Amino acid sequence: THEDLERGRRGKDLDRKHVFHSWSAQDRIDPMAIVAAQGSRLWDADGNEYIDFSSQLVNTNIGHQHPAVVKAIQEQAARLCTIAPPHANDARSEAARLITELAPEGLNSVFFTNGGADANEHAVRMARLHTGRQKVLTAYRSFHGGTTLAVNLTGDPRRFANDTPGAGVVHFMPAYTYRSYFGSADETEEAERALRHLEDMIVLEGPQNIAAVMLESIPGTAGIYTPPPGYLTGVRELTRKYGIMYIADEVMAGFGRSGEWFAIDHWGVQPDLITFAKGVNSGYVPLGGVIISDEIRQTFAERAYPGGLTYSGHPLATAAAVATINAMREEAMVENAKRLGAEVIGPHLEKIEANHPSVGEVRGMGCFWAVELVTDPETREPLAPYGGSSEAMDRLTAEIKGNGVLPFINFNRIHVVPPLNTPDDEVVEGLQVIDRALDIADEYVER
Ligand code: PLP
Repeated sequence: THEDLERGRRGKDLDRKHVFHSWSAQDRIDPMAIVAAQGSRLWDADGNEYIDFSSQLVNTNIGHQHPAVVKAIQEQAARLCTIAPPHANDARSEAARLITELAPEGLNSVFFTNGGADANEHAVRMARLHTGRQKVLTAYRSFHGGTTLAVNLTGDPRRFANDTPGAGVVHFMPAYTYRSYFGSADETEEAERALRHLEDMIVLEGPQNIAAVMLESIPGTAGIYTPPPGYLTGVRELTRKYGIMYIADEVMAGFGRSGEWFAIDHWGVQPDLITFAKGVNSGYVPLGGVIISDEIRQTFAERAYPGGLTYSGHPLATAAAVATINAMREEAMVENAKRLGAEVIGPHLEKIEANHPSVGEVRGMGCFWAVELVTDPETREPLAPYGGSSEAMDRLTAEIKGNGVLPFINFNRIHVVPPLNTPDDEVVEGLQVIDRALDIADEYVER
């Protein structure tokens, strides 16, 4: 409507005057003002419509404005907007029950946080106190959040400006077959070699000093590089062998994104701690948390857990989580994500890979896919450098947006991460836009 556009323009004007944005040079950005969103569609202040192929920051797993979740938030707001964490509250209790029901056996408690970064901070704190050890091993090519410890856990360029001496984090090389650090020829070899490397790292760092290994079950922003079969089960065996806690970061991969409730479910892995956020309530109200094993909970049975937040298990956020999980179940959204991946996105991306020399690899599952772009299919030289962009990626991004698709771009990759309930024809429409736009990337391929 006219008022929407007016609001959008005013919002944009004030944004440029007063809003300080994440990860940005403030004078070098031009934020798109979004005035309305419905399902997997968005509208900007210039009246343009987009298919949201990013699910925002890969969190609106149920799409925008799901009526059942909007209603649940409204009803909870009318009943009780907020309550301090020491009190029991039915919205928080029911959210915890539903989340533990979805989690593997033996993880029956939830500590709620405001998002993913603080979930990871608390998971590490719990692992350190439980084991009495300090070091944490995490992977390069990972993202675990923006707060001080979480960004130190992270293995991506955003850490460089935030490296904190004494953070107690040691990074290792993850299994990543397409860009294998170990020179592996295939997934089996990659899993074996990456596990041997991780065991070496554990032994060389001193297992008696290592509290936890933290891994994104399927690394998200760093490239949706699905772990080869056997890798995560191997990590579970290694951590058990050395008495190390296994923390699965499911902040992006969890809540149906990969076609299972949790990505670890693809491999039947049972971690000690699982962190979540984003998809738990599709970001309608900020929420994250840690799912805790019975064994770790026991550590804090008679001894206080030294940590907490004013908004731990906020009623509006947890009521939204309850409604989200119920809607996802009733509408079989996780099954739909699996089907979309196997029958629509996967096959379509394979065709795209065959038709475009700039496409080095497509990979993923469910509604969680990456298209990795290169200037040379032989050497696999990326179309933009690690941590940067390039003329080719900038032109490609503009072309995709100009044709009504909002993509998720990271360095030399396009991620295809729509809401799990996006109608098939919208998914196909978005993929066709990407397919045509990739002609631009092909111009940069050295022949
Ligand atoms: N962990 C992973 C895997 C993520 O993708 C993110 C955010 O993108 C985070 C943690 C941090 O979550 P938040 O931004 O809610 O703090």
